[in-house]
Amino acid sequence: MKVTAEVVNGKCPTCSELTMLVGLTNELYRCMNCGADLEQRVNGKITYLPTMSSPKDGATPFVKEWNE
Ligand SMILES: [Zn+2]
Repeated sequence: MKVTAEVVNGKCPTCSELTMLVGLTNELYRCMNCGADLEQRVNGKITYLPTMSSPKDGATPFVKEWNE
């Protein structure tokens, strides 16, 4: 198996820049501009969502509900 970092061009939702995104996994990309981790969603078109790491110290999650 060959492991290479996939680099794609995409618009980062965190910094709103069209920039290079480096694939960490099949679904996780990192913005080269601001360093945000983005989740790739493919449903007709590819979109990137900022990932939010869950708090490790019991703090209240930043987003409790996700309303579209
Ligand atoms: Zn960014």
